[in-house]
Amino acid sequence: MAEQGLLIVISGPSGAGKGTICSRMMESEPELRYSISATTRPPRKGEVDGENYFFLEREEFVSMRETGGFLEWAEVYGNFYGTPRKNVELMLNQGYDIILEIDIQGALQIKEKFPEGVFIFIEPPSLKELETRITKRGTDSKDVIARRMQEASKELKYVTEYDYVVVNDCLEVAVTRVKSIIVAEKCRPQRKRLTLTNEVMGK
Ligand code: 5GP
Repeated sequence: MAEQGLLIVISGPSGAGKGTICSRMMESEPELRYSISATTRPPRKGEVDGENYFFLEREEFVSMRETGGFLEWAEVYGNFYGTPRKNVELMLNQGYDIILEIDIQGALQIKEKFPEGVFIFIEPPSLKELETRITKRGTDSKDVIARRMQEASKELKYVTEYDYVVVNDCLEVAVTRVKSIIVAEKCRPQRKRLTLTNEVMGK
């Protein structure tokens, strides 16, 4: 049987660069899988159903939630977001590492269920830089930007709930750090099938 894959949770304020870091990881790590979330938020320009998110009607989301279809779910900026359970469990059991890019409420729920997960918080270099990035993205109105900035200040207080913090000042450095964290986590004796140790211990 394959060794259980790693469950990697990535959170951080909107605009910190989680999405870009995850995309880079997916390009370079063939063993990595990305959990596509479900959301009731309408698609943004260029977003594709089943690729970026599963875009659901509110009733569909609620029905899936009530039948235990989500590993975690949360309301973020007035919309529901959730991690579909089935695919994550399947991938982990097949030995794939899987990335969940989710908010802090969701990460805390996952931590309860999967304390062995790897929890990484992506921090922007400063609040000023965060505001610049969200504004440049051009997807949000002034009101929404203000709300995201308020939310970011709250979210940054949760960094100590995570195992690691990576400051996304330079994208290449941040991606290298996330990769290094994953490599290090895979070398933990608690995570490995200790074939040699078992042999010398006569197990
Ligand atoms: P956006 O609407 O900008 O794509 O995402 C808004 C927030 O929702 C981000 O912080 C993102 O990480 C979070 N998010 C995306 N998918 C999920 C999910 O499945 N569960 C939870 N709890 N948060 C999610």
